[in-house]
Amino acid sequence: MPRTTVVILPGDGIGPEVAREARLTLELLVPEVEVREELLGGAAIRATGEPLPQQTLDACLAATAVLKGPVGDPEFDAADVRPEQGLLGLRTALDTYANLRPSVLGDVDLLIVRELVGGLYFGARGTREDGTVFDTCEYHPRQVERIVRRGFELARRRRGRLTSVDKANVLETSRLWRRIVDETAPRYPDVQVEHMLVDNAAMQLATTAGQFDVIVTENMFGDILSDLAAAVTGGLGLAPSASLSDGGPGLFEPVHGSAPDIAGTGRANPTAMLRSTALLLEHGLGHADEAGALERAIDAALEQVKTPDLGGTATTEQLGAAVREQLAVDDARVLS
Ligand code: NAD
Repeated sequence: MPRTTVVILPGDGIGPEVAREARLTLELLVPEVEVREELLGGAAIRATGEPLPQQTLDACLAATAVLKGPVGDPEFDAADVRPEQGLLGLRTALDTYANLRPSVLGDVDLLIVRELVGGLYFGARGTREDGTVFDTCEYHPRQVERIVRRGFELARRRRGRLTSVDKANVLETSRLWRRIVDETAPRYPDVQVEHMLVDNAAMQLATTAGQFDVIVTENMFGDILSDLAAAVTGGLGLAPSASLSDGGPGLFEPVHGSAPDIAGTGRANPTAMLRSTALLLEHGLGHADEAGALERAIDAALEQVKTPDLGGTATTEQLGAAVREQLAVDDARVLS
């Protein structure tokens, strides 16, 4: 059997600083996994002229899972070749169509499953002769079926509740979406399904987010609702994400950017990168126990050790080390 391999793409700005903590933690939890690093983004442009070098792409396609730091550097803001092109190229090459964005705080524990490679961001666009500019929201039934199935599968493994968000009172694509959800539901009798219009979903998320388990929705609705869910559960700086394909390697990354304003100062909070590592362990490598242990260790470390964005004075390395110490404590408890 081929060896399990994780490719880490440290990226730009604070990327290498938070990626270092993720790598040390991963090596501690699953020492049998082979970990290698490749270049992506600005770092790759400086070394090779390309934001997604062939060597990086080949390594990612051959990997079991990919852990990515943020990319982006003001140095390339006005350039033709930009770091972010590497990220979009990678998502397309891996066909990571299912974007998972968990939000957890207090009584809120929800997961947004967003369609990532279709809809308004990918449909026909242009300018008509009279000057009208248009973007088109398009979905093929197959694109909807696979993301809806993902939503049901994930709900089945959690608390068994799925909220499908659409705008079926106005949009044809939403009516297709709703029909496919209803056709899929009988195959998952253990999952309780409800439909919710997107405007109502935004209001419910802002006021009573604790009612949700899994939300499945199309690309643009998911883009907006997942940022809202992150905002009501502690902010974007702490938010992880997973982007999954069918069978191929998943892409796991923090939601935040490369934070050039604090790069190199040791002030970066590694939490989102470490929570992305937990998602990688669970969804990328099938190590649910280790993922749970890491989540618990992050929660416990954050009780005592806070980086400047959380009002503390700890460095990136100190918070990373505290998480690994908590893992050792947890391990000792399990063994005793
Ligand atoms: P940003 O998320 O990098 O930073 C916004 C603010 O949040 C800054 O004040 C930053 O210091 C702070 N911040 C972000 N992450 C933090 C962390 N882990 N710990 C502590 N503070 C943190 O967003 P931006 O400034 O709009 O973008 C900077 C660059 O990142 C741009 O080039 C952008 O294109 C890129 N970007 C990349 C990704 C990605 O790789 N997926 C996502 C978003 C932005």
